[in-house]
Amino acid sequence: MQQRPIYLDHAATTPVRPTVLEAMLPFFTEAYGNPSSIHSTGRGASVALQKARQMLADLLGARPSEIIFTGCGTESDNAALRGIAAARRAATGANRIITTPIEHKAILQTAEALRDHHGFALTLLPVDGDGRVPIEAMADALAAPDEVAIVSVMAANNEVGTIEPIAELGALCRAAGVPFHTDAVQAGGKLDLTVSALQVDAMSLGAHKFYGPKGVGLLYLRAGTPFHAYMTGGSHEGGRRAGTENVPLIVGMAKALELAEAERATEGPRLRALRDRLIGGMLEGVDGAALTGSAVHRLDNHASFVIDGADAEGMLIALDLAGVAASSGSACASGANRPSHVLDALGIPPAQAAGALRFSLGAATTVEDIDYVVGELPRIVERVRA
Ligand code: PLP
Repeated sequence: MQQRPIYLDHAATTPVRPTVLEAMLPFFTEAYGNPSSIHSTGRGASVALQKARQMLADLLGARPSEIIFTGCGTESDNAALRGIAAARRAATGANRIITTPIEHKAILQTAEALRDHHGFALTLLPVDGDGRVPIEAMADALAAPDEVAIVSVMAANNEVGTIEPIAELGALCRAAGVPFHTDAVQAGGKLDLTVSALQVDAMSLGAHKFYGPKGVGLLYLRAGTPFHAYMTGGSHEGGRRAGTENVPLIVGMAKALELAEAERATEGPRLRALRDRLIGGMLEGVDGAALTGSAVHRLDNHASFVIDGADAEGMLIALDLAGVAASSGSACASGANRPSHVLDALGIPPAQAAGALRFSLGAATTVEDIDYVVGELPRIVERVRA
């Protein structure tokens, strides 16, 4: 008997590790100071904040002053797009935002808001059938670099698991002198996020995707990148994001990324083997199932499918009854009953996209879990189709 539920929705969120919780707890109670205070209670919090900032900077190959703490991945994405686009336009007149049609809504809706309410022009790069941005498409889009305020391409897609060629895209942007941001929320703890190798000027992370707490994220902002504060009211975070720092959650985020990075070399291959077992089992055992996203450039823990003639919601409910927590893709889109903008951009017709299923594996996932899911799915699909 499997331990229930079998949680295969780690792309939506992950549990906080006990050691992360342990690291956080003192900062709620005895070490509760405001890091801006002069007294020793405040200084204790300030030291913890500095230590967490240094840890995160070291893990990303950045300087501590290049880390801005935020309230979530969504806020980091907003900060990058709004803060950099506004500052670069003010300095140079550059007015175009370039991104992709498969971004998370935190980027897409922000880019659309900047277009609709702030007069920016918006270019969406094409993606291929796997959801990858062709390098040539980026080169073409950068033909007039002086007009480009910011480029943003996600490191890995949340719905289909595709990994983008960030280093190559980043190199093109750097050569063109255009600020380049990546939404690395799904890649945190899973891909090498050394910022110099990725050639990014800005990068978003959210702690709850790598066994840290919800409600905290960070924006890496390379020194010298134009940036206007989007949240004003104090000199916190170098004047770039006002508001008393959430010390316990920031401490938890640093601890969580440290642990995830320490385990990445062993946990990656373990998850990849489980993922491939799941993909193989699904494609073999479920009639009409097809993989979405790239078979090669894919997150180690991510398996996503469309299943012909089976409605996603029906499958998710049946899976839940069978003790399996999965998703149709984006947690934010579920219940919205709209076809996924990501699958649409990959050229998957709406009728097929209606049968989207995503399994995202994690630290507790076992071979038995995978075999159970692969064993249950054919019956579930049959029932839902009927
Ligand atoms: N970007 C991507 C790619 C995501 O997958 C998510 C969340 O699922 C976000 C941004 C938003 O992150 P948060 O939930 O921390 O606001």
